[in-house]
Amino acid sequence: MNIISHLIVSYAISCEFKSSEDRFFFTIGGIAPDFDIVLYVLYILNNNLFIFKHRTIFHSPLLIWLWILIWYLVITSLMHSRYSLRGLMLMITGSYFHIFLDFLTTSAIPLYPINRIARLPIINSDSPIILAISMTLFLFIIIKFWRIILQFLTRPQISSLLSTLWSNTSIKKLRNLLISYLVVFFCALLLHSVLYLHLQGTSRSLPGNIVAVEPKFMSITQWIIIKENDTHYLVWHYVLGEGIISNSIYQKISILNGSVEEALLAIMESQHDPRVKELLYSGKPYIIIVEWKGGDVWIVKWINLERILTMNISILRSVITYEITVRVDLS
Ligand SMILES: [Zn+2]
Repeated sequence: MNIISHLIVSYAISCEFKSSEDRFFFTIGGIAPDFDIVLYVLYILNNNLFIFKHRTIFHSPLLIWLWILIWYLVITSLMHSRYSLRGLMLMITGSYFHIFLDFLTTSAIPLYPINRIARLPIINSDSPIILAISMTLFLFIIIKFWRIILQFLTRPQISSLLSTLWSNTSIKKLRNLLISYLVVFFCALLLHSVLYLHLQGTSRSLPGNIVAVEPKFMSITQWIIIKENDTHYLVWHYVLGEGIISNSIYQKISILNGSVEEALLAIMESQHDPRVKELLYSGKPYIIIVEWKGGDVWIVKWINLERILTMNISILRSVITYEITVRVDLS
């Protein structure tokens, strides 16, 4: 979910609070998890610090409070205001709303530092009751948001404040634009969640252990299901309205030539590359292609299978395929 949607929704909910300070802290809390983009510079400086990338360590429900505490201290000192537990708690509550919304849109959120591949119970749950409760809760929240958003947009104070800046017709246009944006966004979110739950159910009847259920990049109607057994990944392609249209198999490790023993050593050697460390840490499925180039030189390609299947854009191949040259000395 993008920061504008977070801002609109957080502000809309915060309108339930009477004091402007409460509204402020809740709204800031609702967008603060996405301030983690400022940490991206750490990753640029040192690729080993990949846990500071967007939507990683500070989108974890176990660590988000720490991130919020830092921002709370920064904001209160910038505003020269007193510290209050209420302000901090409102900011933390807002941030958990943010993560919950991100969870609904991305199907999973990281649970650092406990388990890098852990997913919330709804994902692994076999219980239709949990799914039904989650969906009801989700629908309730949307309906509730919707009422609050409409209330917010039609408030006379907001209208009069905005009309001092724009003419009445512009206000109407802005209001309609915001409403259309939210309608489209929530419809997409709802469709996404329903499809996700449906495909989770479908994937259980397919062989192998479930690895990922993901929509294709910029698409809601096309999805992939990835499952694994010991040596292979099994992939199903799903299109809304047509069902599963095709399936494919990917070998986890392919050794193109040379000795198996040396190839395995080359794979181990390539794991020192920070991009590979990040891939391993993310828990995403990957395939490895090893090629002997003569002498002690080997090329190991690590391919992020999930991204290559969901993005399908050749320009991004270099980002999701890491080609590492290593030397394997057996002596
Ligand atoms: Zn976020």
